[in-house]
Amino acid sequence: MDMLEPPSPPPTSLIKPSMSYSAKKEKLLKAWEAIRSKMLHTHIEEMSPATTCCVLCHSTVDNIIHCDTCGPNAFYCDLCCNQIHKPMLFHRPKKWNVGLIFTYTCRLYK
Ligand SMILES: [Zn+2]
Ligand SMILES: [Zn+2]
Repeated sequence: MDMLEPPSPPPTSLIKPSMSYSAKKEKLLKAWEAIRSKMLHTHIEEMSPATTCCVLCHSTVDNIIHCDTCGPNAFYCDLCCNQIHKPMLFHRPKKWNVGLIFTYTCRLYK
C-alpha cells in the first residue's frame, strides 16, 4: 500500500509576500491623491448655481442666492430673498459671489 505524499510546496517565485498594513495605506493614499484635484473641481462645479434668474421676480442677477432649505430650485435675488425669509429664521441661504459661495445674512427687520 502506497502512502500519500504531502503536496509539494509551490515554487518560491510564485509566493507573493502580503503587503503590510502601512504599505496598503500608502497605496490607498496615493490612489486618492491621483484623483483629488479632479474631484475638487467637480465638487466646485456642482456647487455653482444652476441659474442666475430669480424664481420669484424673474430678474437676472450675477450674485444669485440659493436656499437649500427652500428647495433645490430656490434661487432668489437680494430683494426676494429678504422678503421670503422674513418669517423663516432657520433658513441658511447662500450667495454666489465671483465664483465663491458665502452664507447670506438676510436683512430681517428692515
Ligand atoms: Zn427676485
Ligand atoms: Zn429658504
